Amino acid sequence: MKDWKASASALYDGEFRPMFINGSWCEARSGEVMDARNPADGTLLATVPKGGKADIDAAVSAARTAFEGPWSKWTPFERQALLLRIAERFEAEWESLCLSDTLDMGMPIQRTLANSRRVLGMLRFYAGQAVTIHGQTIPNSFPGEIYSSTVREPIGVVGAIIPWNAPIAGSIWKIAPAIATGCTVVLKPSEEASLTVLMIARIMQEAGLPDGVLNIVTGLGADAGAALAEHPGVAKIVFTGSTATGQAIARAATGNLKRVSLELGGKSPVIVCRDADIEKAVPVAAMSVFANSGQICIAGSRLFVAREIHDEFVRRVAEFAANLRIGHGIQDDTDIGPIISARQAERIAGYLSAGPTEGAEIVTGGARVEGAGFEGGHFFHPTVFGGVTDDMSIAREEIFGPVISAMPFDDIDEVVARANATPYGLAAGVFSTHLGTAHKLAHRLKAGSVWVNMYHAIDPAVPFGGVKMSGYGREGGTEHMEEYLDTKAIWINTD
Ligand code: NAD
Repeated sequence: MKDWKASASALYDGEFRPMFINGSWCEARSGEVMDARNPADGTLLATVPKGGKADIDAAVSAARTAFEGPWSKWTPFERQALLLRIAERFEAEWESLCLSDTLDMGMPIQRTLANSRRVLGMLRFYAGQAVTIHGQTIPNSFPGEIYSSTVREPIGVVGAIIPWNAPIAGSIWKIAPAIATGCTVVLKPSEEASLTVLMIARIMQEAGLPDGVLNIVTGLGADAGAALAEHPGVAKIVFTGSTATGQAIARAATGNLKRVSLELGGKSPVIVCRDADIEKAVPVAAMSVFANSGQICIAGSRLFVAREIHDEFVRRVAEFAANLRIGHGIQDDTDIGPIISARQAERIAGYLSAGPTEGAEIVTGGARVEGAGFEGGHFFHPTVFGGVTDDMSIAREEIFGPVISAMPFDDIDEVVARANATPYGLAAGVFSTHLGTAHKLAHRLKAGSVWVNMYHAIDPAVPFGGVKMSGYGREGGTEHMEEYLDTKAIWINTD
């Protein structure tokens, strides 16, 4: 086993870490800083600039200058080569990147390390996409020799705002398509987890990213985030976060009618049919929520189980949950790490008491983890609620913690109606060995992704995103490039 503790103290020692504007490492113009703390024990990892409107203005101006200047001369093949160099550097520094994330936001190290297939795959996938962008020659209805064609152009400065729960993949999903298309980026990471994103900027700079193409402004949402969302120099906001913030961003974007894509919250259903392979379904249904301590947008937090197998299935999910190892992310055998902050922990605790008050029964968990080894952090026992009804708050609202609400169902029509009766539509899971049932459910569920006999598959080549109040726009897949491109029509009269 690796001594992650020793590597951790070498990585962060409580010192100031500057942010990144126009290729320079700088303080906030106000001089203000904020703490970056380890959510497992509250220790100070570093301080980072508390950037605000003036810093966003400087970053947007740098991004605009790069967009209109030297960066616009880079060929798609040069941008592709840059992304491939970045991928190589990521591979070489993968352990440090993962350790940084584990320290800064708590995700167990074995889980961050396991994400390399996806993240390196993303960088290489977008490198491939860079050289596929092209327009069309389109016959038109005009008489004479008038030719029409299209070209695809990068939209300009992209403002990216991300949450804390997956800083590496979350930021690469915003930055890599921008590099592929020739856009430039101002990225505001979550105030809860800025450190790895700053490390990513350093790696990209060392790989040859020109000044101004990527700018990182650390700071608060209401401050730096809001300034970015309303900035007239930004052509598009790509946002991942809560539905309420997504609504605020969509409103702020109206000033210059900037484009917006939103990856928001969810209350995703997992449906276990009576013909499901229970052995396989139990761990997947459990980890659809408990992975990353439930701090996952696609958490399958409404567990619908066919009545015939409900009690047995829920008992086994609870048993699985009770055996998960809770601990600091840097312990190699940790399954469940800490919750990011006191504020989020309070939210989760509120739902743990609302459940029984509204009539649900705690099958397992239901409380914080206290005692030696857990001081200074916010840890919860993975929780399964039984006896849940559709109207309870734990069945309707996104908890963003390790909490499953289990409910029986009787037939397919009923469960489809209940699963779809939510303002959200991010993801859904189906467990069935019957091909027809699996197909029927996959087509009738209103969600951006439906997984059958699996969960949580997110791939560079496959589009991901939500419907309804889980947002709009897609990340991943060739469609993703559309989010960063405009189409220009060119007409030529040759007479
Ligand atoms: P959040 O909305 O509070 O914050 C997300 C980001 O927005 C942060 O960087 C924050 O500083 C910034 N922000 C806050 N207020 C802002 C404002 N007024 N203007 C501009 N920016 C602002 O979300 P969170 O609590 O960090 O993350 C949890 C939420 O994110 C959950 O709802 C979860 O479902 C969602 N999420 C969705 C996905 C997805 O892909 N759909 C992925 C991860 C998380």
